[in-house]
Amino acid sequence: MGQWLKRVHVNDGLNSIYLDEGFIRRIVPEEQSHLTYEREWDAQGFLMLPTFKDYHVHLDKSFPSNRWISRKPVSSLFEQFQLEKDLMAPLKRNQLDRARQTLQQLLDYGTTEMRVHVDIDPDIGLSHLETILTLKEEFISKLKLEIVAFPQQGLIRSSSQNLIKQALQQGASIVGAVDPAGVDQDIEASLSAIFRLSVECDAEIDIHLHDPGHLGLFTLERIVDYTLRYGKQGKVAVSHAYCLGEVEEAATHAIVGKIAEADITIISSVPIDSAMPRVSHLVSQGVNVRVGTDHTGLDAWTPFGDGDLLSRGRRMAEKYMWNDDDRLCSVFPYIAASPIRFREGDKANFILLDALNPQHAIATAPTREIVCVNGTAVAGRKLQTAWAANSNLKTEGCL
Ligand SMILES: [Zn+2]
Repeated sequence: MGQWLKRVHVNDGLNSIYLDEGFIRRIVPEEQSHLTYEREWDAQGFLMLPTFKDYHVHLDKSFPSNRWISRKPVSSLFEQFQLEKDLMAPLKRNQLDRARQTLQQLLDYGTTEMRVHVDIDPDIGLSHLETILTLKEEFISKLKLEIVAFPQQGLIRSSSQNLIKQALQQGASIVGAVDPAGVDQDIEASLSAIFRLSVECDAEIDIHLHDPGHLGLFTLERIVDYTLRYGKQGKVAVSHAYCLGEVEEAATHAIVGKIAEADITIISSVPIDSAMPRVSHLVSQGVNVRVGTDHTGLDAWTPFGDGDLLSRGRRMAEKYMWNDDDRLCSVFPYIAASPIRFREGDKANFILLDALNPQHAIATAPTREIVCVNGTAVAGRKLQTAWAANSNLKTEGCL
């Protein structure tokens, strides 16, 4: 038997929604819904929005949330790599607990799907992957995780090809990489290895690209060539790609067209400390653009990460000065796991929050009161309170 969710603000009005077996079966305007049902709960007028998909997270790098770990300025990416290694070394023991805490935090923010980059190198082997696979199993009813086998120290530079292959055979589904030029120092060797692994293991590709300016653009050209040569259209993503925002727009027209043609996705964390690809330009040329939070808490890269994708959407709107209704709402396709309008027959995956409409939610990023997956409330502030118990809400372990 299903249950009714009454007085929920969805699709521009107050409605009652019937949930059954994990799906939204009916959406009825509130004024037409006079009946009192045995199994109903009152959503108190909260706004219903889709849950989120985070396209770029690292769950294995967060520091303990209750301890400040000092960091110092660094002058190069390699120094940053070493700093991270040094800071993470003493934290190995509690990695599973920390990653679990981070994952729960993301779920409380309403993120129910995510692409997780997992560090792999000869020093740590597949230990981080084991942690994330354990959590993937643990959260299987609430979260969809896709795993990127990520050689943070460089695929070629750290000689991690065999380990990446093993990771792809043991649960990762995407080949990761970082800066074929700047880190691996050999664009052709790096891309050859990446694409060969991708073909051999039938895996997608997601490359961190920090290399600046025209070096970055040249690397993108080569990534396009390899994508076409290996028939990997629609299976390749480039994360960050700062170079697309660093070089003058006119100089990026040709490469942006090629990226669209090769169906390569550009993923941005909406950085405030470096240039960002020009999203409107990319989208107008047919490029698929997605957003990830990248840093989910205190880590060696930044003290500002929080894993809240709705807040990241607000940052995106602020950065581009998208301050009218339409452009505020235009943020959702970059962060949402499903369309913003709900229809009968949709999966019952949604969040409830205190906002007047979707554009208000982007502008204010309010607390997620309820996060519902397959018709069951699994996270959110209200789940911790008597509200859930008193509302006859179907919650984990209750019904
Ligand atoms: Zn990253």
